[in-house]
Amino acid sequence: MRKDADGMSMKNAYLLSVLEDLKKKNAHEPEFLQAAEEVLESLEPVVEADPRYEQQNIIGRIVEPERVVMFRVPWVDDSGRVQVNRGYRVQFNSAIGPYKGGLRFHPSVNLSVIKFLGFEQIFKNSLTTLPMGGGKGGCDFDPKGKSDGEVMRFCQSFMTELQRHIGPDTDVPAGDIGVGAREVGFLFGQYKKIRNEFTGVLTGKGLSYGGSLARTEATGFGLCYFADACLRDNGQSFQGKRVVVSGSGNVAIYANQKVNQLGGRVVAMSDSNGYIVDENGIDYKIIKEIKEVKRARIKTYLDYVPSAKYVEGCSGIWTVPCDIALPCATQNEIDGASAQALIANGCKGVFEGANMPSTPQAIAAYQEAGIFFGPAKAANAGGVATSGLEMSQNSERLSWTFDEVDAKLKGIMEGIYAACAAAAEQFGMKGNLQAGANIAGFLKVADAMLWQGVC
Ligand code: NDP
Repeated sequence: MRKDADGMSMKNAYLLSVLEDLKKKNAHEPEFLQAAEEVLESLEPVVEADPRYEQQNIIGRIVEPERVVMFRVPWVDDSGRVQVNRGYRVQFNSAIGPYKGGLRFHPSVNLSVIKFLGFEQIFKNSLTTLPMGGGKGGCDFDPKGKSDGEVMRFCQSFMTELQRHIGPDTDVPAGDIGVGAREVGFLFGQYKKIRNEFTGVLTGKGLSYGGSLARTEATGFGLCYFADACLRDNGQSFQGKRVVVSGSGNVAIYANQKVNQLGGRVVAMSDSNGYIVDENGIDYKIIKEIKEVKRARIKTYLDYVPSAKYVEGCSGIWTVPCDIALPCATQNEIDGASAQALIANGCKGVFEGANMPSTPQAIAAYQEAGIFFGPAKAANAGGVATSGLEMSQNSERLSWTFDEVDAKLKGIMEGIYAACAAAAEQFGMKGNLQAGANIAGFLKVADAMLWQGVC
């Protein structure tokens, strides 16, 4: 999408007035405004093709969360001091199902970050074809360096408030950055204790109490299924490709595993301190042990593979030459200069495992260079899709096998790729998966909102 000197390509008066109003009301929420503007720009041809979206002010309604909850989270640390954090749950849109979206525990969490994630979640969940609305939550608590006891007391306090607002047919949270199996377990235990009910109120649960096989792997695997569908549609594959994966958490680890299975080689990975390069291919099992068992820094990889290289600082990872880049760490981790470095070194495609990891300048650079670009809300939808499958299994009181869930995940990701490609083509932007994802995700939610009247 070409932009004018102000960086704006939108001309539609209705969309511009919604955006102006949004900027006025949310001036201190840069991440949310970035996410909203990106979607609104893509929707221009859709709004112009169907006057009902303007008549019923669907866009003005979809950018406003249905409900925002902010709350105090007091807890006692190991030295007996009382700590206080700020918790959030943004229930953005329930037109097509109960609110669904993860919880993020990280010091950078604020209302803007949670609103951007919740807004993206509306379209992502719609793309999965499963009945899930959009929501997101979290806290500015940092689990890093905390004891298990501190994490448990924090999670119990967080859930003591959150349980008032969620439920298996209302809002079903999951994990995200800083919220893995340990945290989900503590959160679920407290919900069960307070509400006296054993229900599928959270996803990402342990296998012994209602979790789904393949949920842990789902976002990373799904990302690769999406990328693979795109490559194959263009006569290519992962076979023999050099791949750079940022991060070394849940998404990154399983993206690495699937890249290998598909014939590629992951040569670099990172954490927030620095990145490692191993020309022989990074073994995901070592990263899993470092991050999930030892909870150590990625630098430790050198203890296992002394021939690998470690570089301090995480942003330099985008200067490592690769065919495919899979950003799987955090928002805005690839800026315009990093995107240019990737392209100059021969990168042919960027598929987003993290949420909004590319800045608008980076996306403009991908489009200018004509490389493949799989946007987060489509490419990383495998996690929430499998959460949806976990909800189905909980409702049925049944557990499906790993292969059953994995096959469904693969089918969903291939379907998402096809839907994005088709929507882009239908609205005259063939090959633009970013626009295709926004449009395909929007149409289902907007249609449901039209049917349900003004509410
Ligand atoms: P984790 O907490 O498991 O891992 C996050 C990883 O990213 C850690 O290795 C962390 O390193 C690293 N990291 C954080 N900031 C930076 C940075 N600036 N540069 C390099 N590395 C960094 O989170 P997830 O893997 O679950 O989530 C990663 C991304 O994927 C997020 O954007 C999340 O919203 C998104 N996502 C996750 C889904 C899931 O199912 N888990 C589903 C869909 C999207 P460190 O340990 O140093 O902090």
